[in-house]
Amino acid sequence: MNIHEYQGKEVLRQYGVSVPRGKVAFTVDEAVQAAEELGSPVTVVKAQIHAGGRGKAGGVKIAKSPDQVRVYAEELLGKVLVTHQTGPAGKQVKRLLIEEGCDIRKEYYIGLVLDRATGRIVLMGSEEGGMEIEEVAARSPEKIVKETVDPAVGLQVFQARRLAYAIGIPGELVNKAVRFMTSLYTAFIDKDCSIAEINPLVVTGSGDVMALDAKLNFDANALFRHKDILALRDLDEEDEKEIQASKFDLSYIALDGTIGCMVNGAGLAMATMDIIHYYGGAPANFLDVGGGATAEKVTEAFKIILSDPQVKGIFVNIFGGIMRCDVIAEGIVQAARQVGLSRPLVVRLEGTNVELGKKLLRESGLAIITADSMADGAEKIVAEVQKAS
Ligand code: ADP
Ligand code: MG
Repeated sequence: MNIHEYQGKEVLRQYGVSVPRGKVAFTVDEAVQAAEELGSPVTVVKAQIHAGGRGKAGGVKIAKSPDQVRVYAEELLGKVLVTHQTGPAGKQVKRLLIEEGCDIRKEYYIGLVLDRATGRIVLMGSEEGGMEIEEVAARSPEKIVKETVDPAVGLQVFQARRLAYAIGIPGELVNKAVRFMTSLYTAFIDKDCSIAEINPLVVTGSGDVMALDAKLNFDANALFRHKDILALRDLDEEDEKEIQASKFDLSYIALDGTIGCMVNGAGLAMATMDIIHYYGGAPANFLDVGGGATAEKVTEAFKIILSDPQVKGIFVNIFGGIMRCDVIAEGIVQAARQVGLSRPLVVRLEGTNVELGKKLLRESGLAIITADSMADGAEKIVAEVQKAS
């Protein structure tokens, strides 16, 4: 789960990570009031959306007076910001962070991520802060320095110090940078983060080391023990279909293809996406209805898939192990009747009670195309979708 920059900074502040003073604003008046309360000579107006790249897209404005804050707040609130991370549709700005302007001497990059290859947390740093780290990694990978953390002992001070020197933090500020990194690490572990990215970390004119940006991502499976973090969830930033799916305990991820998929089991769901690609199509979603899905759950899954206007056809690929094929068939028929079947539907069933399941589909009188294998089904749905477009 992602949170906004201002929320991330609030979490970090609790751990002693140095961040500029700032306040969130939902309206123009709140923005001006926040600027007056801050009383700093320079105020930064920052669009709060769950995406980076705001600076380049005009979502970060430097104001010299509360009047200027008003102008920028009026401009940004309600605006659809398109950054390289939002996709072409962009994201509407509904909140602003009104923050004290910072006298930046130099920008660096600091990040903590879970390295899946080693199964360990890695502290990354670069002297090339402010820009996209992916770009730095591609152009000059030697400018990214890494320290792998041993989970038994946590991030060691010598590692933080070695990294601080390696990225060129001025000698007299290395101790501050080390404290910054160890506090960031404590926050990361304590709150079950999966990413903590500070880009940029800055060294200021007055000799401070602070986070000017904060991107925190939390492990969704650990949120049950972090009610305070869960309370920061902003549903406006999440896909409507994904929210709906989570209510019914369906694992659903929206994608940008045209073939809606309903599958049981994450492995089969991924294999289904692969085989759709193999036959020249593109999946509109990943959807795992789970092992013990009921007819109701299947109906909900169906509705979610069909609520996506991009979906031009549906491929149901179910292996009935714990789940019986007749239950699935019942759910499909029920859903198709409820929501109306206006787009081609290919169903491949295999496993327990498959004959009964197929019979239910046949006798439903619905225009369902049946498939004998996964490959057959994928080929058929790709052909149907191509025919329709
Ligand atoms: P994004 O990563 O979405 O572009 P950032 O928060 O990193 O947004 O801001 C972009 C740039 O704006 C920073 O690299 C920094 O140069 C500048 N900036 C951000 N916050 C401040 C601030 N409080 N004071 C001065 N400059 C800032
Ligand atoms: Mg940034």
